[in-house]
Amino acid sequence: MKIPARPKVILRHCDSYDPGAIRRIVREGLDELGLRPRGRTLVKPNCVASKPQFPHAYTRPEFLEGVLLALRDRADDTLEELAIGERCGITVPTRLAFEGADYYPMLKRTGVKHYHFEEVPQVEIPLSHPERLRDYLFTPEPVAKADFFVNCPKFKSHPWTTVTFSLKNYIGIQDDRHRLIDHDHRLDEKIADLQYIVQPEFIAIDAIEAGEGRMLTPIPRHMGLVIMGNCQVAFDAVCCHILGIDPLGVDHIRLAHERGFGPVDLSAIEVTGDVGLADAQARAKGFKVGLIRVEKYFEGTTISAYAGPPPEPERTDYCWGGCPGAIEEAIEILRQFDAQCDAKIPRIHIVFGAYDGPIDAKPGERVIFIGDCAKWEGDIAGKPIKIESLYKDRRTKDPYTAKHEDIYAKMVTVSAKMADSARTGAPVRLTGCPVSVAEQLLALVYSSDVKNPILEPENAFRFNRAYLGWRANTVAQRLKGTPYQIQGAADRGDAAPEVER
Ligand code: SF4
Repeated sequence: MKIPARPKVILRHCDSYDPGAIRRIVREGLDELGLRPRGRTLVKPNCVASKPQFPHAYTRPEFLEGVLLALRDRADDTLEELAIGERCGITVPTRLAFEGADYYPMLKRTGVKHYHFEEVPQVEIPLSHPERLRDYLFTPEPVAKADFFVNCPKFKSHPWTTVTFSLKNYIGIQDDRHRLIDHDHRLDEKIADLQYIVQPEFIAIDAIEAGEGRMLTPIPRHMGLVIMGNCQVAFDAVCCHILGIDPLGVDHIRLAHERGFGPVDLSAIEVTGDVGLADAQARAKGFKVGLIRVEKYFEGTTISAYAGPPPEPERTDYCWGGCPGAIEEAIEILRQFDAQCDAKIPRIHIVFGAYDGPIDAKPGERVIFIGDCAKWEGDIAGKPIKIESLYKDRRTKDPYTAKHEDIYAKMVTVSAKMADSARTGAPVRLTGCPVSVAEQLLALVYSSDVKNPILEPENAFRFNRAYLGWRANTVAQRLKGTPYQIQGAADRGDAAPEVER
């Protein structure tokens, strides 16, 4: 795992999603960096979610097409496979995200292979660095076997991690079972641990239309930039400097930097290209990033949010990587889908962590405790209520035995809990660590008259088709004896990053 001694970040102007122009720019970038794709070349886009609800959330297909064609232009004789791979937002089939992003026609046109990461074998990667959260991680086999790995993210804000550039895009190199483990107040450490799986030799971020303010439903911001590089930490640091934020203030960048994955100081990074840093900064002036506490986020709405600290308070007073951020994404999805969303939601109260203040709920107003670590004792509408923490120490969670949670099973569970609460007037308890965006979205839907995006006829048809394709492939692989399930340790261990001389 080689980290360039003096990493390079290239800033190029690109006004539109013209695949030919992007191909030329990226080919020149690969040439400048002296890179030649080889063997199994794998490209990881950010396709967390796509159209019609999330038109600005993903790496655009035209961008990906330009990158793929440039990689092929520059490949050496050993190129064996050129592919893309991704695991989109949890519970949703990656097939659905790829379809909504218009990836399939582009892949057919370019003759590039694709992997839905939740449908391939998951391979164990042992970890041994001292700061690790656990002793092994799992990653999809194509990632573990890639000879030339390319990171192709989208330039966006993020409510849990401030920004999502190159390092954060690695959250999509795990399937749901493994991605949810440690996706809590230690999320930044998890992202840093994922860096030991593989480092990209090339990074190209889609910053032509960047995503401002949020992650799933960002506000589009024309920046007209293709940014390329050969070191993730240096790359993300330059992206932070473009936004005028301190890279060391973004924990996953700081942690990866402290562990030797690259520099953050501009004096240690060569910045080139036809756009100067000052010009890029001018294009990003006033760009809004994430990190809004949930209480503040819902101010002025019918939702009252209360957040106490998660367990292990010595590390944080707020769970930035888990449940509170998920409800912010959930409401934004509903707002996109139903213009009357806020007007349709009655006054409700949502509680996270070990909150120890009052809950100002009147009789008939719903109270929802979200997450295993929720804990509270007091009176609600004159009735004594005691909520115990169900939080399980992370050491009890074994990636080998982690289970996939089905969206339809979640729908049944959440709707039953909400119906029970409506009947008895008791508070609702949603368990999990974290409780996913999908479950929190369902809780809001079942508390109001807001339309359920999952059940709208057009969405339901597309979703079910993709879901059935995913499940059918899983069953077919099992019947064929293909190891869909977990395989043993990969050849690649977690070699410490080594700086080239
Ligand atoms: S239950 Fe939710 S809020 Fe609590 S630690 Fe887990 S992810 Fe964070």
